[in-house]
Amino acid sequence: MLHTNQKEKQERICSNPKCKELGIYPAPKSRDKIREYLYFCINCIRDFNKSWNYFEGLNEQELEVEIRKSVTWDRPSWKFGTKNISYDFDKAFNKFENKKNIKNKKVFNKKLENAFRILGLSHDTNIKEVKTKYKFLAKKWHPDVQNETQSKNDKDKFINITNAYKIILEFLTKPSKT
Ligand SMILES: [Zn+2]
Repeated sequence: MLHTNQKEKQERICSNPKCKELGIYPAPKSRDKIREYLYFCINCIRDFNKSWNYFEGLNEQELEVEIRKSVTWDRPSWKFGTKNISYDFDKAFNKFENKKNIKNKKVFNKKLENAFRILGLSHDTNIKEVKTKYKFLAKKWHPDVQNETQSKNDKDKFINITNAYKIILEFLTKPSKT
């Protein structure tokens, strides 16, 4: 029995992915999983415990004692498990990135929506159709053509058409980010 336990302990590798030492010292995976353990070598358990309020103020020897009676962890105030910290960071970071993308998307969509409306095109249009439509509208509203009767409004119209054409063309030709 003791022999088996001994063997198990010896075959365990430290939970620090960068470490190849034997994992002898157990540490709860997280505050919520104090019955599930990660196993660290002596150096890594020290690092691990540095992030843990429970051991603050203990000297080296007291720490050693605490580690040795580790089988009966009295529910300390875990801040985090080593694994969970990177996980939570990724999650938080992704959330932040998504929020940013949604905001950019909204601004872009408003411009794009407007461009489609100006050229009178539907969303599932293609480049050929966009070019044809632009040529038609640009010719119709071009300042050279409309010179005599053109009002200020009509001049704006030609500029708006050209801008809309550029926006839609960019949308259709650039690779999708999502
Ligand atoms: Zn280690």
